[in-house]
Amino acid sequence: MYKIRNIDLAESGRQKIQWVRKNMPLLRSLEDEFSKTKPFDGVRVSISVHLEAKTAYLAKVLAIGGAEVSVTGSNPLSTQDDVAAALAKDGLKVYAWYNATEEEYKEHLELALGYKPNIIIDDGGDLVNLLHTKRQDLLPHVMGGSEETTTGILRLKAMEREGVLKFPMVAVNNAYCKYLFDNRYGTGQSVWDGINRTTNLIVAGKNVVVVGYGWCGKGIAMRAKGLGASVIVCEIDPIKATEAVMDGFKVMTMDKASSIGDIFITATGCKRVIHGEHYKKMKDGAILCNAGHFDVEVCVPELEEMACEKKEQRKNIMGYKIEDGRWINLLAEGRLVNLAAGDGHPAEIMDMSFALQALSAKYVLENYEKLGNKVIDVPEEIDKRVALMKLKSWGIEIDELTEEQKKYLESWC
Ligand code: NAD
Ligand code: SAH
Repeated sequence: MYKIRNIDLAESGRQKIQWVRKNMPLLRSLEDEFSKTKPFDGVRVSISVHLEAKTAYLAKVLAIGGAEVSVTGSNPLSTQDDVAAALAKDGLKVYAWYNATEEEYKEHLELALGYKPNIIIDDGGDLVNLLHTKRQDLLPHVMGGSEETTTGILRLKAMEREGVLKFPMVAVNNAYCKYLFDNRYGTGQSVWDGINRTTNLIVAGKNVVVVGYGWCGKGIAMRAKGLGASVIVCEIDPIKATEAVMDGFKVMTMDKASSIGDIFITATGCKRVIHGEHYKKMKDGAILCNAGHFDVEVCVPELEEMACEKKEQRKNIMGYKIEDGRWINLLAEGRLVNLAAGDGHPAEIMDMSFALQALSAKYVLENYEKLGNKVIDVPEEIDKRVALMKLKSWGIEIDELTEEQKKYLESWC
């Protein structure tokens, strides 16, 4: 019950999963708990998240907890075929392969949903979209689900506003233990890992333009500074722009930054933030990449249109020659550079995000009837539990308020 590239790759995938398991102590403790309590016995769970080793381990933990799990990717370029093979060999239902065409990608989503899931784990909203359009027939089986990322939650909120959302969805991204760590430190590190391993060029001394100074942009800019770059931030929000100035970065319009930058990184969740007018001004050799959402932030069709020649420069780097002789380099087809040209966030970061996912799935299962068709925050107890688990994994203990201190904080005179 799988549709993957090559089952013979399973051993390499298994090795990757074992490595992340060793470095994901929070999920390991949930594995231990779920293996005894079996909270998901008889429950069907469909997952659409970047099909990489850490996601595979999340899927295995849910299966160990009794769930019947089907898995697909959430981006055609982030699926790792050996990891998909390892999961399939372990008996999970897997539908994904690297470099799927748009049609194949959609088919894989539908196949994963074919098991009539009770709970979904989505990343960017593809499963929710399908369940509210082409596969509405499956809605009676769905109790609810959870969403991993910022843009997916924006879409869910739009559906909630219009009254069309048909089941409760937990906004995992909005938990403190998600965006403060995953979006900031995870993206901050993995984006540079993706860019560096792809280009093998120096960052020190370069002008790095970060477009969007939200949680991801902050992490990317912080790490660019640490690598010795001069960092420029482009924003549309005056408060975020002010924050960037006080964090020590230059702030200017994209129009101005386009002739100064050596490396451009988008992290906005918005479309066409870098486009043809900017390409006209860029330096020869400029590098463009996206760390935000799908492949819409850097406008690839306009780059294709303007180019008189196109040539692969290195794996995951496409060079576009403009009429005047300048070359502009696009990494990973404008898709998430940290996942399409890297292994995504480190294991210890996804450990927190996926502990939230596993506990949110259990929360939905236990509470779906009273949640309503709404976007729901991760309960504070779960968020705090994940932070405490993380501290415990480091061997760190923290203080607790005394009764006297509690009373003092709650009083007004
Ligand atoms: P956020 O809302 O905290 O930040 C986005 C920022 O972009 C905001 O400050 C906003 O004002 C700014 N912005 C929006 N449109 C803009 C434009 N046209 N020009 C300049 N700035 C603009 O969101 P976030 O949590 O930082 O996430 C950003 C994107 O990255 C989302 O699409 C999210 O789903 C995705 N994401 C990717 C990864 C990854 O692994 N690559 C990880 C987490 C989130
Ligand atoms: N599917 C969309 C949505 C953005 S993905 C797209 O491909 O554009 C952004 C999410 O990927 C983040 O919220 C983060 O939690 C997740 N992510 C980052 N590294 C990951 C990894 N190694 N494995 C699984 N998910 C990861």
